[in-house]
Amino acid sequence: MSDGGLNGARELLEALELLEAERAEATAAISALMRDFDGIVDSASGVGTDDEHDPEGATIAFERAQVAALLEQARGRLADLDLALARIEDGSYGSCERCGQPITAERLTARPAARTCIRCAVRPGRGSGRARGPG
Ligand SMILES: [Zn+2]
Repeated sequence: MSDGGLNGARELLEALELLEAERAEATAAISALMRDFDGIVDSASGVGTDDEHDPEGATIAFERAQVAALLEQARGRLADLDLALARIEDGSYGSCERCGQPITAERLTARPAARTCIRCAVRPGRGSGRARGPG
C-alpha cells in the first residue's frame, strides 16, 4: 500500500473546498484591510495637514505602513491559494514543486496551499542564512 499524495478524486475535492474557503477568507481580509487603509488616508486628508512636523502625520504614516504590510501578506496568501487552485486544474496539485515527490495528504489538509513537501519545507533554502536548529 502506498501512502502519501493525493490519489483519489475525493481528496482532491476536499482540497478544493478547503482552498476555496481559505480564498474567500483571504479576499474578505484584503477588502477589510483596503477599507482600513482608505479610512486612514481619509482621516488624514480630513485634517487637511500634510506637514511632516505634525505628530499625527507620523502616526498616520505608521498605521498605513502596518496596514500595507498586512495587505501584502494577505495578497501573498491569496496568490498562493490561486496557484494551488490552478494546480488542481492542471493536475499538478499535490506534488512538491521542488523535488516532485507527492506532498502528504496530512500536510495538504493542514496547509492546502502548500507548494512543497514537508522535507523541502524544513530544509533550509539556499542563502537564507537561517540559524540551524537543534538536531
Ligand atoms: Zn519536496
